[in-house]
Amino acid sequence: MSSQHVLVLNCGSSSLKFAIIDNATGDEILSGLAERLADQAPQIKYKFQGNKEIVPLNSGDAHQVAITTLVKLIKDLSLDADLVAVGHRVVHGGERFTQSVIIDDSVIKAIEETASLAPLHNPANLLGIRAAQAAFAHLPQIAVFDTAFHQSMDQTAYLYALPYSLYREHGVRRYGFHGTSHAYVSAQAIEVLGLKDTSSRIITAHLGNGCSVTAIKDGKSVDTSMGLTPLEGLVMGTRSGDIDPGLFSFLANQLNYSTQQIDTLLNKQSGLLGISELSNDCRTIEEAAQENHPQASLALDIFCYRLAKQIASFLVPLGGLDALVFTGGIGENSDVIREKVVNQLSFLGMKINTESNLNARFGDQGIITDASHTPVAMVIPTNEEWVIANDAATLAKGV
Ligand code: ADP
Repeated sequence: MSSQHVLVLNCGSSSLKFAIIDNATGDEILSGLAERLADQAPQIKYKFQGNKEIVPLNSGDAHQVAITTLVKLIKDLSLDADLVAVGHRVVHGGERFTQSVIIDDSVIKAIEETASLAPLHNPANLLGIRAAQAAFAHLPQIAVFDTAFHQSMDQTAYLYALPYSLYREHGVRRYGFHGTSHAYVSAQAIEVLGLKDTSSRIITAHLGNGCSVTAIKDGKSVDTSMGLTPLEGLVMGTRSGDIDPGLFSFLANQLNYSTQQIDTLLNKQSGLLGISELSNDCRTIEEAAQENHPQASLALDIFCYRLAKQIASFLVPLGGLDALVFTGGIGENSDVIREKVVNQLSFLGMKINTESNLNARFGDQGIITDASHTPVAMVIPTNEEWVIANDAATLAKGV
């Protein structure tokens, strides 16, 4: 059988992440990042056969130049012959997309229409789609949505207690994000633990720069911590997560903040960075906390408390718990955060296994609680690129 390679593109407002994935093995044949696309000196970094290279990008429309340079690179390395599809990560699929789809004009129109809900992300995703369509006109292009997995949520979980007309006329509701990651790690947990799809209760904590928790019942998302936008829910690197909505009028009326300033405050200056006044990076915060930096310790404590509280609240839709799964850069690597969170949830019956917890890092998978206690907590490295590649290769077969 010939190799089935998929080009996976994740086009953001200032960066373009790319990878060529072997769909059978999940191996990354080529991977890289075009960055600083909205600033000066944009560049492409990539890794191929163990070698890392950095190439400055020519001047011009940086997104377009990045794609053109990537296409040339793929052709120069003779990687185009095995490509069977291009898979695009699309952040917001609104209510229309409940699964991945082959991109056609109607899909593009729907992604455009959803741009009001994700003004930073969807237009950038569309740039990537259009450029890839032009460069690889012979290949099927597939859209994989961050929101799709959460479309199984019930109205009781996704509606805000706002005038219903805001939902009916403007789509104001909770959508949830990180869907590919939550779907992948929960399916892995079901397999590894030998649970049945049809009777399993899993909570997945995707903890990276953005953080979200999802309650998954019988393989389906029933609630998640992010909402209309990826700002709701947990404390994150620079995002506040949940706050009192009354803060908006306080900031506007008492402190004369503009909407733009409030947006920046909540999305870019809050979270771990805001509390610690030091960094948004969890490693830096942990190191500082170890050296008794009081605000770094406080930031970690608030991060963990809010996470544990959110996890506990998901016991309501699940009616019990089989497994708590940690993933993402923090979830996969921070034994400190995992231990604090599991300890706060010990009333559920979980007991941290210090040794397994310390050992579970750098891409390892494993249970980090004592096997004699249920539910279990475990680490499962996420692999969003492989999910996108898989969906793309599967849909491309039918073309
Ligand atoms: P993104 O959401 O951008 O994909 P990642 O999933 O890579 O981000 O997660 C980035 C976060 O993971 C950062 O806060 C980083 O500090 C944290 N992280 C990575 N390695 C470690 C580690 N060894 N200990 C604690 N935190 C870590």
